[in-house]
Amino acid sequence: MFSRKKKIKTLNEIKKELDWAKDQSIGIISFSGGEPTIRRDLFECVGYAKKLGFEKIEIQSNGMMFYYKSYAKKMAESGANRFFISVHGNEKTHDFLTQVKGSFKKTIRGLENIQKTGVELRLGIVINNYNYMQLLEWTKNLLKFEALSYHFDYITPVGFSKENYKNLAPKIKEVAPSLKKSADFLLDSGFNPWIHNIYPCNLSGYEAMMSELMEKRTILSGSNFRADIDKTKKDGRKKPYSCEKCKFNSLCTGPYQKYIEIYGNKEFKPIRGELKSIEFQKYEN
Ligand code: SF4
Repeated sequence: MFSRKKKIKTLNEIKKELDWAKDQSIGIISFSGGEPTIRRDLFECVGYAKKLGFEKIEIQSNGMMFYYKSYAKKMAESGANRFFISVHGNEKTHDFLTQVKGSFKKTIRGLENIQKTGVELRLGIVINNYNYMQLLEWTKNLLKFEALSYHFDYITPVGFSKENYKNLAPKIKEVAPSLKKSADFLLDSGFNPWIHNIYPCNLSGYEAMMSELMEKRTILSGSNFRADIDKTKKDGRKKPYSCEKCKFNSLCTGPYQKYIEIYGNKEFKPIRGELKSIEFQKYEN
């Protein structure tokens, strides 16, 4: 689980963490949050990561600060070479979920400015009860930005989402039809979907897009936490015993305990047979 501290990290603390990550031979650094762009010294953090020579320096953001063209340009010049921007649905839903009127329009303008920098762009949506029916609309609306990948992230029970998980988390079974349509649309259009926190038994045939089956090493650094994606990926999970009979058992993290507490484990039926190698999409790392 993320280790949360009360105070916001200082620039020096972040530099030390970047030094540590470099010593660990970690290749990808992701500045996350909350919202990393609220840090005035984010340019310096990114610049330091660049100086240390990380292969990928990612900013995970709601995209609103990129509304300012000069901000997007300066962030790219400082060394950010991947932007991961979250859009939470259509305009009405996005504004509702962010609780900021006009935030959708700002984020879309931010995406236009990011596109002009030529830096790698990835787009994500956290799937919840308010937006799961809009996944295809979301995909179609954002296709024009030609992101390197489109991430469908079923809500993770952490922080606010954990406290409100019952209200926010839809049944995966209900999400699946909409998600399939969106993934198919992206593939047909020549783009790459990624699926998080949904498993082969929920969405057969889409395994190659599922991050829960992959091993990677990314350090996610927020203003008050640091998380090793590889380790945190397994935290809070509760695999049903029946998973032992599933051919994906050795690769699959299985669902969150919180999910099982609400919906039970009937959706997670083992897939029998022999596991053949899965050719994961090549752009992830
Ligand atoms: S291991 Fe469990 S959760 Fe994963 S695909 Fe198999 S049955 Fe589903």
